[in-house]
Amino acid sequence: MIKLEFEIAVFLYLLLTIFGFFGLWFLFSKIEVPRQRKMDLESIWQCSICTYIYVDSKHKKLSVCPRCGSYNDREGGGH
Ligand SMILES: [Zn+2]
Repeated sequence: MIKLEFEIAVFLYLLLTIFGFFGLWFLFSKIEVPRQRKMDLESIWQCSICTYIYVDSKHKKLSVCPRCGSYNDREGGGH
């Protein structure tokens, strides 16, 4: 009986360790997700000609619309 309780205790300890690890991993992954979304928002472009919304993470200041091929600049809007 004592041995069985010891095994259960070890099993519970391992279970808690695994759950703790997954809990930490879940927390860290939850923290990283908004950062990635924020980065994605910066790479989202809206064409000023055809209002097509697309993602271009390679370019930051100037991007070419894949739909109509016109150039869009980030500082644009001040006509
Ligand atoms: Zn366009």
